[in-house]
Amino acid sequence: MKPVVKKSALAGIVVTGIAVASAMAAEEAALNVGEVNVYSYRQPFLVQPLFDAFTEQSGIKVNVLFAKTGLVERLKQEGANSPADLIFTVDIGRLSEAYNASLTQPVTSPALTAAIPDIYREPAGNWYGLTRRARIIYASKERISPEEAPKTYEELADPKWAGRICTRSGNHVYQVGLTAAMVAHHGEAKTEAWLKGIKANLARKPQGNDRAQVKAIREGECDIALGNHYYYVLMQQNEEQSAWAQSVYPVFPTIGDTGTHVNISGMALTKASPNQDNAVKLMEFLAGPLAQQMYAEQNYEYPILDGVPETGVLKAMGPMTSDTLPLADISEHRSAAIKLVDKVGYND
Ligand code: FE
Repeated sequence: MKPVVKKSALAGIVVTGIAVASAMAAEEAALNVGEVNVYSYRQPFLVQPLFDAFTEQSGIKVNVLFAKTGLVERLKQEGANSPADLIFTVDIGRLSEAYNASLTQPVTSPALTAAIPDIYREPAGNWYGLTRRARIIYASKERISPEEAPKTYEELADPKWAGRICTRSGNHVYQVGLTAAMVAHHGEAKTEAWLKGIKANLARKPQGNDRAQVKAIREGECDIALGNHYYYVLMQQNEEQSAWAQSVYPVFPTIGDTGTHVNISGMALTKASPNQDNAVKLMEFLAGPLAQQMYAEQNYEYPILDGVPETGVLKAMGPMTSDTLPLADISEHRSAAIKLVDKVGYND
């Protein structure tokens, strides 16, 4: 099934004017009532197989509008006339952004609350996690022995790592999530000291994406990097990047003595949802065993439903125990985290 909305139409949403208005009218006609309409930050090829399976089982058609940015703003702009039923995100930041802007509504569903542990959903049901994404340490095989490698995020601030760490921008949602988790565990003062400590240990100015940090290890620029766990698998599958992956090994650090910081990909029912019954059916399907297994296999992420087997590649990376603090609590510290990143001049 092809997404009904074309990318070219989306290009208009960041600007204003007549061209936008006509593009939006065309899209509204395409996103039909009686089906289910998803605004997705998650790439179509990752979610389409799940939607196809849902349609096969339920007979309900799923229309997807994908964009890398701007979907929350778009929901705001469309208000009560929005055709969107669900919003899909790849991190907690955007979910809480939609929730805080009152663009979501609570879903009460025994199936969802049974499937999704309470630490991975908003208490009233305004958003639900679907998969877990661990933020891990990548360590140089050549230059760091497993005994020596840091076992906690806190240790990254230790001066013994001076000049040896690489990270991406402190303002990126993945880094903000981790910093917010530090605030949730240790408070702002300790987190500020931690950020200063890591900044002092950086081998270079924060830059690039997660994979670029591992590349920098391969090239000898640094010995330790932070990145999401699934890039380890994705790099191995990439001709150019497999050498980068082979130069490192993954470490699953703990935070505040609990477990590894995880972010979630997740979903929320929009406040204006015109097809609520269908939307909730899709949410329940995605939290169920079939979709959870498909999702984990397709994306190399950790399922959220208990009892779904981890894929072989994840097992090979080693055991993962995740942080036990509720993501809803962590996300409340996101703005404090962003302020601290600026305060210490992390990216300067
Ligand atoms: Fe990613």
